[in-house]
Amino acid sequence: MPELPEVETVARDLRPRLVGATIVGARCSWARTLRTHDPLTFGDAVAGRTVLAVGRRAKQVVVDLTGEAALTIHLKMTGQLFVVPADAPDDPYVRLVLELADGREMRFRDIRKFGKIGLYGRDPVTGELVSEVGGTAVFAAIGPEPLADEFTVREFRRRLRRRKGRLKPLLLDQSFIAGVGNIYADESLWRSRLHPLRSASSLRSPDERRLYEAMRAVMFEAIERRGSSIDDYTAPDGDSSMQERLDIYQRTGEPCRRCGHPVKRIVVGARSTHFCSWCQRLSAGDRKGAKVILRTLTGGEVRRGRRWTELAGEGSIGLTADESARAATRSRTERTQRAAATRRAAARASIGGGG
Ligand SMILES: [Zn+2]
Repeated sequence: MPELPEVETVARDLRPRLVGATIVGARCSWARTLRTHDPLTFGDAVAGRTVLAVGRRAKQVVVDLTGEAALTIHLKMTGQLFVVPADAPDDPYVRLVLELADGREMRFRDIRKFGKIGLYGRDPVTGELVSEVGGTAVFAAIGPEPLADEFTVREFRRRLRRRKGRLKPLLLDQSFIAGVGNIYADESLWRSRLHPLRSASSLRSPDERRLYEAMRAVMFEAIERRGSSIDDYTAPDGDSSMQERLDIYQRTGEPCRRCGHPVKRIVVGARSTHFCSWCQRLSAGDRKGAKVILRTLTGGEVRRGRRWTELAGEGSIGLTADESARAATRSRTERTQRAAATRRAAARASIGGGG
């Protein structure tokens, strides 16, 4: 699923294409794409509005419209946005079309149909997006933007010290920080040499600063590189290059780029988690609790016949991967990556190249 850098890239690509354009109507072929309206009322509600700005909040694109309204677009697993001439070839995976007055269309293409688009008003008092005046803000439960200037190491520390739990699930918790997902959580933890199952409360002040700096650095770099083209993510202006720079994510069995020990993979909260058990040590205090977490959270994996290393010795928590298992993982990853690249190419071809 696209994370902060990918969604930021999509918003930046859309901005010059959409700002100033007036919407004249909408077509929707999959009603559940719409979070707030049915297809008929949605068309009426957006028609006549002009795009004022295109931005991002957490993992959603936010399109500000005239009349104190905004569209929120959540790409989820496979959502893609393109702006094309209205006579561009039809595509069966396009779920929603915004028809623009200048003869172009914004098309939301979404193979797996998990994506969601909402139309909200702005509360005249708070300025927040709401379904109804005085109602709960759409982003009320979402934490701060980690790349904002006002998100200082002090603020990060303050939030961290209020939370219990382990670092990986905490970084993925959108109420803690907005926009971080599986890729950049793993990368941030590897860069700051912190084990994904380290408990937040065990961090010392320099650990907190390292994590804060690593998280921001990896996401700033990812935005510069237009995000990571993994799975179906592609931006209106085309693919990105951050996937070539990832140090730990999906590198199971390959040598750690810092120490050469094989990268391990565990499943935490149903999410694949990649780390180096040599560079990212777990303290004795955290090991015991981690063992319980892995037993409960990875039961499915164990039942499928995989074995987990004991947590003794150097604190290596992870899959025992012999060479053949590593090779299998690598070839599976390569196959998945090739298939995704083919789907992205197909998306661009069918949509008419992005225009
Ligand atoms: Zn290492």
